[in-house]
Amino acid sequence: QPQLSSAGKAAATASLNGASHQPQPQPRDGQTWSPSSWTTKPIKQDAIYDDHKQVEKSLAKLERLPPIVTPTEIVRLKNSLRDVALGKAFLLQGGDCAELFDYCEENAIESKVKLLLQMSLVLIWGANKPVVRIARMAGQYAKPRSSPTEIIDGKELPSFRGDILNGFDVDERRLDPSRLVDAYFHSASTLNFLRASLSSGLADLHRPLDWGLGHVQDPELQAKYSKTVDSITDSLSFMRTVGADIASKALETVDLYTSHEGLLLEYEQSLTRRLRDPANASKPSTSEDQKSWYDTSAHFVWIGDRTRQIDGAHIEFFRGISNPIGIKVGPTTSSSDLLTLLRTLNPSVEIGKITLITRYGSSKVRSLLPQHIRIVENSEYARSVVWQCDPMHGNTRSTSTGIKTRQFSDILSELQDCLAIHKEEGSYLGGVHLELTGDAVTECTGGSEGLGEDDLSLNYTSFCDPRLNEKQALELAFLIAGHLRE
Ligand code: PEP
Ligand code: MN
Repeated sequence: QPQLSSAGKAAATASLNGASHQPQPQPRDGQTWSPSSWTTKPIKQDAIYDDHKQVEKSLAKLERLPPIVTPTEIVRLKNSLRDVALGKAFLLQGGDCAELFDYCEENAIESKVKLLLQMSLVLIWGANKPVVRIARMAGQYAKPRSSPTEIIDGKELPSFRGDILNGFDVDERRLDPSRLVDAYFHSASTLNFLRASLSSGLADLHRPLDWGLGHVQDPELQAKYSKTVDSITDSLSFMRTVGADIASKALETVDLYTSHEGLLLEYEQSLTRRLRDPANASKPSTSEDQKSWYDTSAHFVWIGDRTRQIDGAHIEFFRGISNPIGIKVGPTTSSSDLLTLLRTLNPSVEIGKITLITRYGSSKVRSLLPQHIRIVENSEYARSVVWQCDPMHGNTRSTSTGIKTRQFSDILSELQDCLAIHKEEGSYLGGVHLELTGDAVTECTGGSEGLGEDDLSLNYTSFCDPRLNEKQALELAFLIAGHLRE
């Protein structure tokens, strides 16, 4: 029995940016796309609210609020991802599994950004290519769940579905429509601080040693990282000496893009706007064919493993937006579905438009990835997708005492297999997708610190999946860099 979204239907009746003249996307099954056309499709992980008036009020508010990101930024990222697809750059994407509104705070944001920058520096050194950085941040508030309810202290309660839907506290599990608007403001504040910090020199490559390595306790890791930093410092100082960096703004700051799973379509729809394409920005015309639909909630949005049904609501929504998008690909993705997804979401074969985020698990990647690579690389999509390895989501398991964890060795093993398989198949592994935090959490076992299962309780703070801590994440970056240099 297909379920139609209830709140989505309410949203569909709200006026939205005059959807009448869009030149594309093309009608599919006789149906024209609009930001709300997903509401006619069966949906998984639907949000069923009991207060419809409040939902409509929240969505109307969201529709009035300004875009969080702009077409210029979105298109700039798409161009960078084009370079990744063509093997000219490497993609690093990372952040929390479930971002809480509480993480919208100076230290939490800064430590994550610093970690991503440190990792990207190591990867640039390893890949000898530019690194495109996308944070799972400033909007990663909606979580798909395998079960709609869970038992807590003998009571069956709705599962926590992310701060945009309900609260983790047991008395906040009812879906609360005002959280839709709260999500917007937390996302905007996070991005505001990101932008301000970056433009104020947080990522100034002339000062790599200011990045603070104090938290890296392991002397061997310290030495390795310092060696990389030294070699970069040497290159920069040479460039200064020969006067090559005079106009080089690129060394003073970096691009950092935002991303989240586009799960809650009511929210994504409300921030999807018909806007002037950047290439046409200076042309004095209001012609509709110079505009496209942009999901302005983030630069990059992806479709999760549980919501990529070909005839489902999520695919319908995603096929109409101009943003670069990700698709999670796993053990339950058939090769024929994979091609259908590409043809539905990227009929014009734009290079870099789609990132395939593969997540099989270390024991399955060998048997499943090669066939997925072959079907894509032997089709019209050859060399047009970004292949990205998510070594996290196929490697989640429970300890004997029921704690959700991941083993560092499993994560590394899936990543190494991915690198090797792409080499064997003649394709390019263009990036990694990681769940990490800048703090010293104890959620994944292993790594150079040798965290064991008994240590997990020391500082386990994730509200969803276990994340790599700052040492494990940096160590992983070194290991990837080593492989890329081979
Ligand atoms: C996630 O990225 O947090 C997630 C839920 O992944 P997947 O959809 O691959 O299970
Ligand atoms: Mn996760």
